[in-house]
Amino acid sequence: MLDYVGLEAELGEEERMIRDTARRFVDERIRPEIGDHFEDGTFPTDLIPEMGELGFYAPNLEGYGSPNVSETAYGLLMQELEAGDSGLRSMASVQGALVMYPIHAFGSEDQKEEWLPDLGTGEAVGCFGLTEPEHGSNPSNMETHAERDGDEYVLNGTKTWITNSPIADVAVVWARDRSAADGDDDGPIRGFLVETDRDGVTTNKITEKLSLRASITGEIDLRDVRVPESNVLPGVEGMKGPLSCLTQARYGIAWGAVGAARDCFETAREYATDREQFGGPIARFQLQQEKLAEMATEITTSQLLAYRLAELKERGDLRPQHVSMAKRNNVRMAREQSRVAREMLGGNGITTDYSPMRHLANLETVYTYEGTHDIHTLILGQDLTGIAAFE
Ligand code: FAD
Repeated sequence: MLDYVGLEAELGEEERMIRDTARRFVDERIRPEIGDHFEDGTFPTDLIPEMGELGFYAPNLEGYGSPNVSETAYGLLMQELEAGDSGLRSMASVQGALVMYPIHAFGSEDQKEEWLPDLGTGEAVGCFGLTEPEHGSNPSNMETHAERDGDEYVLNGTKTWITNSPIADVAVVWARDRSAADGDDDGPIRGFLVETDRDGVTTNKITEKLSLRASITGEIDLRDVRVPESNVLPGVEGMKGPLSCLTQARYGIAWGAVGAARDCFETAREYATDREQFGGPIARFQLQQEKLAEMATEITTSQLLAYRLAELKERGDLRPQHVSMAKRNNVRMAREQSRVAREMLGGNGITTDYSPMRHLANLETVYTYEGTHDIHTLILGQDLTGIAAFE
């Protein structure tokens, strides 16, 4: 397995164990069937509790059943899961970084006790509702809103492109609290825990996807949905809430994309040494060797960035802009290298018998969600110049 500059030699025992557990899970439980799931547009939902038992959901959190593993261990977990499929890593990212994290960071004690243990074991599934049909890259203009009525809130609006919404038990919905509006201001954005079996909630599945097919994606439509005040996340107001969750998830993506690229590289390397043309393996051609050399170099430099993020995160020095740089770079790298790997497999490369074309298709989503490549460019541009180019 590609680890060209020996980064894994310095891993601790727990980190190796988590890496190996995830790698084995992917080899035994994912690889044999993922091509079929991708073709059928299904996710192996029967594995959700097994993933929980193995500790794949937010093991970097502390308490409520989470073991508080190192940020490197968490990153390695994301890397191994995405070597299987970006849909698999998305499942763990959403459940852990986008649902458990905000409850852990901003929830009441009751909310934590009610949800964190069940989400951690995979007994309950969560989803994260931020994007709306008319507000993707600019979620701060969201229209979904909540009005207070006695000791309840009434929610209205539509969220779309929501990973796992059709199978979720609970949605973290970000909405404007209009009852706290002041003058021209529409009210602060707040997080609401919305159980999906409440009256007025519908979660239609989006079926037309050509990317991230082995992942369930849907809408969340909210029509006069009543939730008690105790379902509001009390610890945060404003875009800081959703953005801090996205920083956690993007951190995992920066690692995960390296896993997808590595899987493409290993597939291409093996294929090139096995496949014979013109009387010998195609790996003997300089053109093919150049592709492997470039791929290995790009993967290695992205790995270095991911490991550095882990160090910064561990000591509390990680800034969201660091994560933007790594998400932007590593996903672009994986997207480009998966195409090269696909090319090296010739005609066989366009089938689900091999992973590169599936990864390539998936990475179109990864390039777009959690802040598009363009948006991360603008975040870095603002950080480097002090001038925001968003408006
Ligand atoms: P738009 O914002 O309309 O962007 C269209 C294009 O315009 C992009 O290329 C973009 O880069 C560019 N653009 C936009 N603004 C600017 C600018 N200022 N300058 C230059 N270029 C710009 N969301 C959730 O809330 N929860 C989820 O679980 C979730 N899961 C997803 C799963 C999948 C499979 C997909 C595809 C998306 C998911 N998303 C989720 C939504 C995702 O985060 C959005 O698709 C993403 O933020 C982009 O929004 P948009 O699709 O509306 O594109």
